[in-house]
Amino acid sequence: MDFTKLIRPHILSLTPYSSARDEYSGKAGIFLDANENPYSSVLGKPFNRYPDPYQSEVKEKLAELKNTKPECIFLGNGSDEPIDLLIKALCEPKEENIVIMPPTYGMYKVCADIQQVNIQQAPLTEDFEIDLDNVFDAVNAATKIIWVCSPNNPSGNILSKASILQIVKAFPDKLVVIDEAYIDFSTEPSFISELENYENIAVLQTFSKAWGMAGLRLGVAYAHPTLIQVLNKIKYPYNINIVTQGLLLEALDKNDEKDRLVAEILSNKLKLEKELSELEGVVKVFPSDSNMILVKFEKAKERFKFLLDKQIIVRDRSNVALCDDCLRITVGTAEENQRLLETLRTF
Ligand SMILES: *Cc1c(COP(=O)(O)O)cnc(C)c1O
Repeated sequence: MDFTKLIRPHILSLTPYSSARDEYSGKAGIFLDANENPYSSVLGKPFNRYPDPYQSEVKEKLAELKNTKPECIFLGNGSDEPIDLLIKALCEPKEENIVIMPPTYGMYKVCADIQQVNIQQAPLTEDFEIDLDNVFDAVNAATKIIWVCSPNNPSGNILSKASILQIVKAFPDKLVVIDEAYIDFSTEPSFISELENYENIAVLQTFSKAWGMAGLRLGVAYAHPTLIQVLNKIKYPYNINIVTQGLLLEALDKNDEKDRLVAEILSNKLKLEKELSELEGVVKVFPSDSNMILVKFEKAKERFKFLLDKQIIVRDRSNVALCDDCLRITVGTAEENQRLLETLRTF
């Protein structure tokens, strides 16, 4: 694809900040270039040096795990960072637009609103599948990004791969971003393997959900190296700190532990889905390929407040498109799920 048409002209021609660590990438030497404290930190721990701005070691290891190349990887302060940067890099404020498919993750709209980028809506169908007619209606000449969230938040289901590919093929000069925050909970493969076949896709994943590292803030974008270079140009130079990079290197040796946690969460989910569907006042338990369950209740709002009073916090999605009377429930530990069910029974 022609990336020079996809990316905003002033971003293409931008000269990025050149950090001290851009000029010399070796590890050994006397570093008198970055005005760091040469001794240590006041904590006595070795935090006195700036981190690797491009996280090379981490990317090597992550590329191996994901069967891709380091130059196809961007690491961000949560997925929120690549979401924000993609819009910043591609969309002219007040002129160009992104397409979203409500009900969907809220940050696409928030980031676009902050940057005054227009939003075109292509609602999902009643059963939360992609509505291709809506997508083709929503996309226009000023569209730069089409956001697909799969498995979708808040509905929890995986979206049809065939429909996603149809969009990718129909709009070869627009970027299709596939947000796979919950892909580890699904039996479907990631779109990362499709990066070889299509240059106009970007895949977002995160260490916040299956990997259990939400507190560390680590999101990843996988895309064509040209697009990754653009994101690198406009990010904060040292966006992933030294501690997080070190912990991520450790975490990447623990893929099996991630799989074990996912298996436990999925087994808890099966039980929770079954018990919820037998509960009085439950209208529908939507199918989930993630670690959340969207549930339609009678008196959803009252039930939400009732739970809140008992310090059980679920997400009220009843004001969201197609989610009338729906609460979104994250699968907890077996004990937490039991407490939730017991409490709901006393409503
Ligand atoms: C939770 C979530 C994310 C992850 O955000 P982080 O900033 O990486 O924690 C991204 N997309 C969706 C759809 C999510 O639900």
